[in-house]
Amino acid sequence: MPADLMGSRVRDGWRFCPGSGATRTLAQPVVKLPPVLTLGFPAAAFETNCFVLATGAGQECVIVDPGIGVVDQLSDVLREFRLRPAAVLLTHGHLDHVYSVTPVCRGEASAAYAAPGSEELTAYIHRDDRYRLRNPLAGIDAGLRYMLEAQFGRAATWTEPSEVIELTDGQQVSLAGLDFTVHHAPGHTEGSVMFSLATVPDQLAGQFASTLISGDVLFAGSIGRCDLPGGDERAMERSLATVVLPMPDDRLVLPGHGDLTTIGQERATNPYLRRLRT
Ligand SMILES: [Zn+2]
Repeated sequence: MPADLMGSRVRDGWRFCPGSGATRTLAQPVVKLPPVLTLGFPAAAFETNCFVLATGAGQECVIVDPGIGVVDQLSDVLREFRLRPAAVLLTHGHLDHVYSVTPVCRGEASAAYAAPGSEELTAYIHRDDRYRLRNPLAGIDAGLRYMLEAQFGRAATWTEPSEVIELTDGQQVSLAGLDFTVHHAPGHTEGSVMFSLATVPDQLAGQFASTLISGDVLFAGSIGRCDLPGGDERAMERSLATVVLPMPDDRLVLPGHGDLTTIGQERATNPYLRRLRT
């Protein structure tokens, strides 16, 4: 896809469209926080959302959840906004969220910007999902493996990233001039996390008070599955009740799949959250 097409698609905001149903119901936040450049696009498989966050064009950026087949799209975004990747954050260790982590850490998406001889980027994942990075292909079924191989025309392979930092609940991670707070929310996997930031995407400045990258914990109108290996329905209910529900209504949610939403919208309409409150 040509870079300009990609750029306009991102800028016009298939997901970052002010005035969408999710945003209209919100009150203006009391405190206005610095907007950040936030770009998102769905990966080639499973429509896993990959997000890129930076304090602005031409700055360092953080890449969240580089899934299957994202390297070309990511390269286009990095080139168009002149972004230099500083690190990769992973919401959890499922294949569709981590598949491109090692190529991205090695600079395959940013060859034009990586300084010669620059070191491999660090990937961040919760310690309870760390084991999944040893071989996320191990658990997949034959059908998915066939699909991957058909898509890429070669055997699906895996190499672990060299530099991995394990996250813990409540930890503050400062990368590329952005401060992320780690919220451990097991249930979809043992080490699923969400990341909150006291900033909002610049396309939506003034409409929200903060941002949550929710991974596969919380979606618009739904939640992540608990029936895959490592899933735990009880743990998910606990995470929703004790981690998600206490969050403020005016927090924008960037989920691992599907459309943007807000905590307020989900509190009011998401059946999985409503069930917990009654
Ligand atoms: Zn997942």
